[in-house]
Amino acid sequence: MRQGPLETLPLFPEFEKPRLELPADATIIVSLSGGKDSVGSLLVALETVDPGKVSAHHQIILEDWPGTVEYCQSVCDQLGVPLYMTQAIYTGYECCQCGNHYLTSCLQPFCRKCSSREARFLMQVASVLDLVRWRKKWPSLEVRFCTSYFKRDNYNRWARANRSLLGTHPVIALGERWRESRGRAKLPVLRPRSGLEWMMEWRPVLEWRRIDVFRKMRDYGIEPHYCYKAQGMTDEDMYECNVEGGPRMSCVICFLKSEEQLRASAKNEVAKPIIERGIAIEREIGHTLKKDQSLERMVTGTQAHRSSWGELQERVQA
Ligand code: SF4
Ligand SMILES: [Zn+2]
Repeated sequence: MRQGPLETLPLFPEFEKPRLELPADATIIVSLSGGKDSVGSLLVALETVDPGKVSAHHQIILEDWPGTVEYCQSVCDQLGVPLYMTQAIYTGYECCQCGNHYLTSCLQPFCRKCSSREARFLMQVASVLDLVRWRKKWPSLEVRFCTSYFKRDNYNRWARANRSLLGTHPVIALGERWRESRGRAKLPVLRPRSGLEWMMEWRPVLEWRRIDVFRKMRDYGIEPHYCYKAQGMTDEDMYECNVEGGPRMSCVICFLKSEEQLRASAKNEVAKPIIERGIAIEREIGHTLKKDQSLERMVTGTQAHRSSWGELQERVQA
């Protein structure tokens, strides 16, 4: 495997665990969000194994920047890679026997607390904001329910249902990088996938710098998703500046975004309706996007109860 800048020689090789290796006959399914790191992973996958053994899977999230599905399709068309897409949809019920409120992706209700199949329909949960409304809480670093419901579980359900498509040694390729965060700095290049023991997780760009990924895309003539420029990045930022951080291709209302990034999204015509819905839900549930600040206040600089959305829009545009 390629040596990266952060890799070092082990001090006590005799005590090191044996390193996992990518199976020779691996079938790679790249988890393609449309962000630069997932596209970079797709490119490395195509360079690493027989391209006929590479496909991509996109987990549709309604809070992604509009046009993301089409962007993923166009990247895969350009590279001749089959693309699968699924959207997680859950139904929220109240158990008629014990009163438990629960979500299920199954067609029929079933209460895990009391095993009753009798339930009253409460709501459909088809997006991150629906889930925020259902839980009456925004996600947080500690309880990142958006990722588990709409990314991890969605992908795992699809993989289980399509196991026969995925060959003897299926591998999911993920676009995480060590330099992105302290949490990601601990990730291994390869490991078995939790919940799907028959699949490996591979992080092909784990040790790459941000600039390496943008440049790799440029080598293949692939234009990055428009969200980077919509959030203020220039070509020089992407291809010439060797720095980390900056705008990310994540949900428009992601709780991990900075105030500046949320403001940039609120000014963007296509992203604004998602921010508006986020603000409406935030008012309804009375829980704020960040611990000490509401989404509304961050994008407008005003308190939730003081202004109507029309006034807020004027302030954002000013
Ligand atoms: S981008 Fe942010 S809000 Fe969207 S699923 Fe990921 S962590 Fe959650
Ligand atoms: Zn019950």
